[in-house]
Amino acid sequence: MSNEAHRRRGLMLLISSPSGAGKTSLSRRLVADHADLALSISATTRQPRPGEENGREYLFVDRAGFDAMVEAGEFLEWANVHEHRYGSPRTPIMAALDKGRDVLFDIDWQGAAQINEHAPDDCVRVFILPPSMADLSRRLHARAQDHEDVIQRRLGRAYDEIAQWGVYDYVIINEDFDRAYAELAHIYHAERLRRARNPWLKTFVQTLLDERL
Ligand code: 5GP
Repeated sequence: MSNEAHRRRGLMLLISSPSGAGKTSLSRRLVADHADLALSISATTRQPRPGEENGREYLFVDRAGFDAMVEAGEFLEWANVHEHRYGSPRTPIMAALDKGRDVLFDIDWQGAAQINEHAPDDCVRVFILPPSMADLSRRLHARAQDHEDVIQRRLGRAYDEIAQWGVYDYVIINEDFDRAYAELAHIYHAERLRRARNPWLKTFVQTLLDERL
């Protein structure tokens, strides 16, 4: 059967966690391993960290540019996070979904709630937890890309972010990266197989029923 005949309904994988819990590394690996999964590149008003490239990690825009995008309705969702604005540009997401691809969002709980409210049937929400707050603090320091006051603010916000865990469909504790990744991949694979995401099955089953031996 052709790919066209197997056309799926794309899903939106929304992954949230406090900063430093490993969500970005898990997300990037899942995207690298699955050709059908696109990463939503967010726009942000925060400064690039060393090694980050415009258009790869984020679209780095100034506050006026961001607000113009908000005004023009260019975001599927946006939110204030850590004193900066972050948003998911609508056009590339819709283009990917239209082609039957899935889209992964590495976004905070406010953004995940906004997208889920608009399209609950197409969303799968995954929350990543650190094994302990001490471990989270260690990871934020090990990253060493942010100043101490920024790290302390992120740690403070982690408590608020974690408090949102209860509305997510799945929760992964990232103690061991490979294990957490395997769990994330299992979730994604199972969710892709949901009947409602595979409308082509209806015709396929009919051909089975019509095939008299
Ligand atoms: P960071 O500055 O460490 O890259 O990201 C800070 C937080 O903003 C993370 O929790 C990240 O998931 C979240 N974030 C990144 N992009 C977006 C977005 O487009 N929308 C929302 N709501 N949050 C985002």
